[in-house]
Amino acid sequence: MRKAIVVGSGAGGATVAKELQGHYDVTVLEAGRAFKPFGMGLDGLGKLRQFGLFFDPREIRLVIPAFQVRPAADDMILVNGLGLGGTTTISTGNALRMDRDLKALGIDLDPEFAEIYREVPVTTAHQDKWHTVTRQLFAIFQELGLEPQPMPKMGEYERCRHCGRCQLGCPHGIKWDSRRFLNLARQKGARVITGCQVESVVVQGGRATGVRAKTGWSRHVFPADLVVLAAGGLGTPVILDNSGMACERRLSVDPVLCVAARSPKCRQHNDVTMPFVSSRDQFILSPYFDHLSFFFNRNWRLPAGDIVSIMIKLADDDLGSISSRGVDKSLTEQDRRRLDEGVAVCKEVLRRFGAGDEGMFLGTVIAGHPGGMLPLTPREAASFHSGRLPDNLYVADATLLPKSLGNPPILTIIAMAKRVSKICRQS
Ligand SMILES: Cc1cc2nc3c(=O)[nH]c(=O)nc-3n(C[C@H](O)[C@H](O)[C@H](O)COP(=O)(O)OP(=O)(O)OC[C@H]3O[C@@H](n4cnc5c(N)ncnc54)[C@H](O)[C@@H]3O)c2cc1C
Ligand code: SF4
Repeated sequence: MRKAIVVGSGAGGATVAKELQGHYDVTVLEAGRAFKPFGMGLDGLGKLRQFGLFFDPREIRLVIPAFQVRPAADDMILVNGLGLGGTTTISTGNALRMDRDLKALGIDLDPEFAEIYREVPVTTAHQDKWHTVTRQLFAIFQELGLEPQPMPKMGEYERCRHCGRCQLGCPHGIKWDSRRFLNLARQKGARVITGCQVESVVVQGGRATGVRAKTGWSRHVFPADLVVLAAGGLGTPVILDNSGMACERRLSVDPVLCVAARSPKCRQHNDVTMPFVSSRDQFILSPYFDHLSFFFNRNWRLPAGDIVSIMIKLADDDLGSISSRGVDKSLTEQDRRRLDEGVAVCKEVLRRFGAGDEGMFLGTVIAGHPGGMLPLTPREAASFHSGRLPDNLYVADATLLPKSLGNPPILTIIAMAKRVSKICRQS
């Protein structure tokens, strides 16, 4: 059987592995290791902050090794998941179909989404057990005409324990992550190699013949008839750059900024994360306890249970890049203006919740949806293949997104990865 190498095991990579195994003999190369949810209680860990143990967000890896944090300009930090399941393991389980920009290119992913809804449980059943703080915020959003909608979630959320730890890894196996697809691929015979950092694609005679990767101190070439890159929006462009295939300066990241206030014993951090969403022009708003700000931002010195917080997630300007030389990404004037608009709305919500302006504080700008550096265009609508790449080299992750979404991308990435897999099966 022909050999396929899939690089990465997140939303895109695990999907491709599941869809291709059997048609190809698939080997998944994953830079990280197995993922473990973080087990310690937040209240106890929060006390360690007073000893100054946490001062740099990159230290989050001491607590959750899968959390990869990189500083960008303007005090913004970029976050992604490194390990089996990629960033899906630290996601908050939001399941929105976000393919409007793809449709505008003439790409119809209806069949792929129909498959997804058969394979991935999606529900808003968590709504039945929202805590008081969430119900109060929902009512305020309604009063203000913000049209909040319960957030559809991936997983068996009717059994959700409302512990609020989704982005630390669900300890109860309720939240769906891409390891479920990876396990299906393995059951069909796919091989998964962890601790294997792919550096570049080997190209000979205009075809990809394999990838060059580092495992521990040694380097290997893994030969292949087909290579699919799904190392995520920050990983795939670096591999392509190292292989002499430049991407575009179109990096988008969906920056998140939380506006928070003191609310004694509200215990928002113990409810389901992002329980509902309000979609505005260019950003969404949702209740969100921001763990990174809680640990590393000096404004967040209150006990976890005394903080109420609302996130603004922005569809940022597609401007920036990453390569082996580093990240080049900052907020534009327009991004800042839009964030300011979001802050004003969040402050009004918090005022109605009973907070005074003097007790409000902001979080760190954190961005966790990198992508867009090899965006699909009408030219690739049928092939999902960029002319810059050899015929047997594909990309199947957030790198393909034509525009920043300002919204959860996992379902849409899975749909694109399914389409890439179909095309590869037919080739
Ligand atoms: C805190 C947080 C919460 C989020 N919540 C949601 C949510 O609720 N809903 C939603 O839709 N989206 C959410 N997202 C975003 C979503 O998780 C990502 O956009 C999505 O997982 C990206 O999929 P991907 O396949 O492009 O990359 P990833 O899922 O990041 O997978 C990339 C994989 O490649 C591996 N890799 C990287 N470099 C290499 C290399 N050189 N060699 C080998 N392997 C490599 C990585 O370890 C990883 O396994 C969240 C993101 C964050 C940070
Ligand atoms: S709130 Fe807790 S139980 Fe529910 S999905 Fe998130 S981590 Fe799992």
